[in-house]
Amino acid sequence: MTDDLTELYQQLLLDHNKSPRNFRVLPDANRTAQGTNPICGDSCTIYARMDGDLVEEMTFQGSGCAISIASASLLTESLKGKTKAEVRVMFDKVCDMMTTGHSEGDLGKLSALAGVHRFPVRIKCAILPWHAAAAAVEGRGETISTESDRA
Ligand code: ZN
Repeated sequence: MTDDLTELYQQLLLDHNKSPRNFRVLPDANRTAQGTNPICGDSCTIYARMDGDLVEEMTFQGSGCAISIASASLLTESLKGKTKAEVRVMFDKVCDMMTTGHSEGDLGKLSALAGVHRFPVRIKCAILPWHAAAAAVEGRGETISTESDRA
């Protein structure tokens, strides 16, 4: 990744932290899940309105560091209109990307999150909303903690 691209991605993350997209309660959500990252103090709640297996709408609320908010904001934009199976595929790709620093190439703006691989403590911040979103979409509706063995 070139320095210019890194700079661009940093700007994107800063923008999503400053003006989070879909940052609201979804009154007609039929799925919700919460996630917490005790190490950093991040928490987020994902709201989804599903029509069968399709994510019709997804929003979030929460508080935490810039990375967790920006990641949740990018996530809600990216997962809207996806099916449950597509959400699972994206979740796996994003996890992989954050661990290795290499994206599969079709993650679009989510590639901005690849940089967290250089800051291992931040990976939990960035992946937190993804765990919550996957739980919501899959109807598990549980509280996810990055300190549990599933994180
Ligand atoms: Zn954090």
